[in-house]
Amino acid sequence: MLALVYKSTWDVALEERPVPAITKDNQVLVRIRATGVCGTDLGIVSGKYHAVPSVILGHESAGEVISVGKEVTSLQPGDRVVINPTYYCGHCEMCRTGRENHCTSKSVTETGVSADGTFTDYYITEDRFLYKLKDHVSYEEATLTEPLSCILTGINQIHLLPNLRTVILGAGPIGILYSYALASKGVTGCLVDISKDRLAIAGSIAPERWQVHETFQAAVQAQAPEGHQVDLIVDTTGAVGTQVLSNLAHGGYLMLMGLRDGNSTFNPKEVVDRSLKIIGSIDSVGTFATAHYLIEQGIIPGKKIITHTFPLDQYEQAFQTLGCDLSERTLNPSSQAIKVILQSN
Ligand SMILES: [Zn+2]
Ligand SMILES: [Zn+2]
Repeated sequence: MLALVYKSTWDVALEERPVPAITKDNQVLVRIRATGVCGTDLGIVSGKYHAVPSVILGHESAGEVISVGKEVTSLQPGDRVVINPTYYCGHCEMCRTGRENHCTSKSVTETGVSADGTFTDYYITEDRFLYKLKDHVSYEEATLTEPLSCILTGINQIHLLPNLRTVILGAGPIGILYSYALASKGVTGCLVDISKDRLAIAGSIAPERWQVHETFQAAVQAQAPEGHQVDLIVDTTGAVGTQVLSNLAHGGYLMLMGLRDGNSTFNPKEVVDRSLKIIGSIDSVGTFATAHYLIEQGIIPGKKIITHTFPLDQYEQAFQTLGCDLSERTLNPSSQAIKVILQSN
């Protein structure tokens, strides 16, 4: 099978790999049909996020069950499934204290980062990481389950009220999925993006009563015309630091998602005196089934969020569409695409 392999920074290539074989009775062999291109993939390629050389990239995926181990009773060949790629052992200190997203085996089990991923034709996982798809849910839409699950894990750390004045920085797939996840809980707010193209698309697909703005300040002004302070700021761009705290109301939340490098300073006294909450969130824990439900019920408009699909062998064009130029070795943060999917044949 052909697989998109990470070799080193800015060096990825399609390579022939053997089809993996089931070695344990609880395993399932899945024929991959679609995998979303994620900011993490672009981060790995551009050297911002560490991955193990020669690993197959890709982790937001759906496909068809080909064969199952002897102990698997809930799935059979032909079933359409979405894959939870966040492996956890269930036995380590992190797993036994509700932090499966930080399982200590992650350094060798993280799909598409430290263990072979799904930008290829076949993938093996355990039955507990697979969720059946209803006929009306396409493989492409189903690939949004994983990023949505990460978002729901973040949201679970917020004491959410429908009247939280909210600004989301970045109108890419994570920003838009975030707006829908919050809207499903009654929250309205603003999406901000520096790219006019992206903002135009976001404006046409954002949830009802949500606004889009070109600048953070314009969004704050729209949400809080008097005090210029909002209750929840979600940064999906990785470009924002704690300088936005002055626009956060007492007791407010700064949610940090997205890859980032460099340091940001904050005044601990301000955080204490104003009861501010700065929250980091990575991967998902306990939210995959809910994300699966939201997509199955059509609460997330997957078809609109997916703006481009490419066959796997056109991965260079797919990355290019997201502002990642493999030949020029440049990563432009804005692009005309929202979600880009690679399809295995
Ligand atoms: Zn991802
Ligand atoms: Zn563990």
